[in-house]
Amino acid sequence: MELKICRKCWKRNGIAKPKADLISKEEECPLCLGSFLRIEEISRMIKSELDSTPEISSFSIGTKIPKESENIEERIWEDIDIRNAKSIKAELNTEIGRWIEKNSRYRFSLDPDVRIIYDSKKNSVEKQITSLYIYGYYNKLQRMIRQTKRADSEDESVEGLIEGPIIESIGGIKAVLHGSGREDIDVLMLGEGRPFVLEVIAPGKRRISRTLLKRIENKINVQNKGKIAVKLKKLCKKELIAIIKRAKFDKEYEAIIELDKPITKEEMKKIPSKILLMQRTPIRVANRRADLIRKRKIKSIKMIWIDNRHFKANILSQSGTYIKEFISGDNGRTNPSVSSILGRKAFCKELNVLRIHSEWLDDFW
Ligand SMILES: [Zn+2]
Repeated sequence: MELKICRKCWKRNGIAKPKADLISKEEECPLCLGSFLRIEEISRMIKSELDSTPEISSFSIGTKIPKESENIEERIWEDIDIRNAKSIKAELNTEIGRWIEKNSRYRFSLDPDVRIIYDSKKNSVEKQITSLYIYGYYNKLQRMIRQTKRADSEDESVEGLIEGPIIESIGGIKAVLHGSGREDIDVLMLGEGRPFVLEVIAPGKRRISRTLLKRIENKINVQNKGKIAVKLKKLCKKELIAIIKRAKFDKEYEAIIELDKPITKEEMKKIPSKILLMQRTPIRVANRRADLIRKRKIKSIKMIWIDNRHFKANILSQSGTYIKEFISGDNGRTNPSVSSILGRKAFCKELNVLRIHSEWLDDFW
């Protein structure tokens, strides 16, 4: 092999006494680039990055090495017993981590507050501050507020209205709302609210006491009175996002239903209290969702007479039921529907979510 590397690099790969293929000057070694001579310098550089990040206590280290070094390492591994070999990245991470733990109060962690990436070729350090996650519930009290911001739209969003006070209070680049499902833009979210996890990207603070969380919650609620209201429960792990996204919660709605032709109170009672639906993906969401036919249960429905063309329906439905389409029938794509049962064209004039049955989430966490 015409490859030459330094004594330390041979030793790391289990060759204690290399005869040939040796580079005497470590700083000229094409594999380690002399990085191990600079452990203290690199570690100090990283420590000062950590020092400039408020309220952190843990870190992790990752190392980037040039492609050429990686190739050299792979070629060496072809010729030696790799059970005795250790990769340069792993060794650098260990050495730097050890120095920092010894010389600072920061502790190495697999779930760190800050991830440090050291680039051995550029001898530079990159810092990634771990997001902060807040578990909460929101109410939407005014129609025509979206759930999340959209790049091409100036519309108000729950996410945007929460973001301002959050960034003011704890810093960060932006806030991302991960909701457990979403209501249409023209639907109110009442009752106990909808569970969400708010991700604060690159937060300036991470030690958030209950008192501070309460203060932020008040700030959001005062600033957005009549639009939205939130409850910020506690800090949580990133994993909760996947859990609330997958969770299937039954939901209670109230709908104001309008008919094209009058009916009598007796006719209104033709709607059974439990209904099994076959629901094909609605036309209005067909561009975003797979075109499928789903079985969905209306677990209970209670009608309240308003006049001969209007009534209110309180509906408890299985997760994933499209309520507007259950009312209109969506041109026969939902069956049965309020329209098909009553033999009238029925239309959902107003829809509110009254309750999301997410009770187990609070117990779970
Ligand atoms: Zn070397």
